[in-house]
Amino acid sequence: MNKSNIALLLVEDEPHIAQGLVFNLEEEGYQVTHVESGEQALELLAKKPYALLILDLSLPGIDGLEVCNLLREQEDQIPILMLTARGSEQDRITGLSKGADDYLAKPFNLKEFLLRVAGLLRRTHWQTAQLENKHYQFGVNRIDLETHQATTATGTIQLTELEMKILLLFFDQEGKILSREKLLKQVWGMAPETETRTLDNFIVRLRKYFEIDPTKPDYFRTVRGRGYRFVQNPE
Ligand code: CA
Repeated sequence: MNKSNIALLLVEDEPHIAQGLVFNLEEEGYQVTHVESGEQALELLAKKPYALLILDLSLPGIDGLEVCNLLREQEDQIPILMLTARGSEQDRITGLSKGADDYLAKPFNLKEFLLRVAGLLRRTHWQTAQLENKHYQFGVNRIDLETHQATTATGTIQLTELEMKILLLFFDQEGKILSREKLLKQVWGMAPETETRTLDNFIVRLRKYFEIDPTKPDYFRTVRGRGYRFVQNPE
């Protein structure tokens, strides 16, 4: 990715915080536009696409949650990183339920901030690339991201919504270890202490579909004591 083509929009009303963020994002090579209110942000977003919206939660006028809400109502899919001074769990949940993609509580570490920005951009980049070709391939397996049909070594399978959800999470986090807690929470919305047998059964099923030898998985690997890891191109 050539970062100088990546236009970010920052909405932050506290000048010293805004200054620091703009400086660091520009250092990283991004193109940054900074505004101080939600109204200004909506105006700009209506005129021009941005790759990412970095949105302070507490703003004069309409607040970050309202901006988020309005954008999602207009079916604007722009990735949103929400910033807030209130670090409560409730705010985090509200923010995410209003359509923010990620969340960072102030005061935050600049390095973490930049990592989150890069992470969200990478995710969008991946999604765009996948949507353009509309399929995902690993080994002989090919998954149609529109029809949810999988072509494997043994035939064609119609994947269920849950199977697709878990697969997309694996593809998105390719090569990374996903903890059982994270998988349960993101796919089933379950608290970690919930019965986790469901997850194991799913993994067994995915291995049966996609592995050459389900007892010796190449793609859907168990990382003992930590969770699972999907590998697109095993050695
Ligand atoms: Ca603020």
